[in-house]
Amino acid sequence: MPEITLGIIGGGQLGSMLCDAAKKLNIKTIIFCDDIDAPAQIFCDEFIHAKYYDKDKIKYFANKVSIITYEFENIPFETLNELNKLKTVLPKPSVNRLIQHRLAEKDFVNKLNIRTTRYVQIKNKDDLLPLEDFLPGILKTTTMGYDGKGQYPIKTIRDIETLNIDFSKEYILEKLVKLKKEISIIITRFGINKYEIYEPIENRHENQILRHSIIPANISDKLFNLSKEWSTMIAEELKYIGTLCVEFFIDRNDNLYVNEIAPRVHNSGHLTINAYDISQFENHIRAVCSLNQKKIKKLFNAEMLNIIGNEINYYRQNHKLNDKQFLFDYKKKEIKQNRKMGHLTTLL
Ligand code: ADP
Ligand code: MG
Repeated sequence: MPEITLGIIGGGQLGSMLCDAAKKLNIKTIIFCDDIDAPAQIFCDEFIHAKYYDKDKIKYFANKVSIITYEFENIPFETLNELNKLKTVLPKPSVNRLIQHRLAEKDFVNKLNIRTTRYVQIKNKDDLLPLEDFLPGILKTTTMGYDGKGQYPIKTIRDIETLNIDFSKEYILEKLVKLKKEISIIITRFGINKYEIYEPIENRHENQILRHSIIPANISDKLFNLSKEWSTMIAEELKYIGTLCVEFFIDRNDNLYVNEIAPRVHNSGHLTINAYDISQFENHIRAVCSLNQKKIKKLFNAEMLNIIGNEINYYRQNHKLNDKQFLFDYKKKEIKQNRKMGHLTTLL
């Protein structure tokens, strides 16, 4: 087999774990990232630090790799498009453009007759005033949001005055779902009707940041099957290649809603590294590099705890692991509040 060099845009922990999985498959990795401190640079074979608009560096990067993928979704469409002219970018840039825009994403899901939360586009403050029946709700920026960033919970119309909302941005207003639980599906699509799909994962968030994931999810057979069915429909309709995550809400009446799609490997799927014979990262690489598809096998049930902010100090200094625990330190230089610093997976 000819040597493959995988180009990865983005240098966070997802990039690091993709690099680790690539090593196992004898694939070289080059990371392209605009953050000089990107933690993945110590996991890859080569690191290119440049702005995402730097055309010379884009060319330089493309010339060095066989194929290109990405580990976060907020990449300028132009960058992906430029790269795609030089080397294949997977998932396709058009998929990224659709999903990085909350309104386009939700419209797309609804067109498939898949339920989402109720939502409405907000272009300015006046758009919000007649929307009492969407409250309590959450105002979310249409682009660039993650880990709850760019979100404003709105209980009453009065909150709109006090919240200091930056209306130079566009938003959607989403009705708040009375959550019973949240789950996610990780699915890797290799081609037409060719998938590997992991069991639903149950997720708990704190302050809109993922805190804890567990497999198996404690849900009915009906929701187990429906969440898989909807995820498959979404991946197929997108003609997606690679690993994708669909986040779901389940309300108190056991209705299932798609919350959002992540066109990449996902935090809730970190436990697949230890719980399955093939992780979400390895499968992503297998799919984008056209390696053979292997049927995945769950080896263990597992749970994952995100280590946030200075909690990492405890794990770095004095935490003893038993043989069922696996600690991943993202080796980020700077500890910040609400920053994901590592995770701990425990086999159950
Ligand atoms: P992000 O892009 O930051 O992950 P999400 O839309 O997934 O944004 O929101 C983060 C979390 O906030 C969700 O996982 C959920 O816990 C909570 N949340 C967001 N929207 C709603 C909603 N409409 N109803 C109830 N909870 C919500
Ligand atoms: Mg989310």
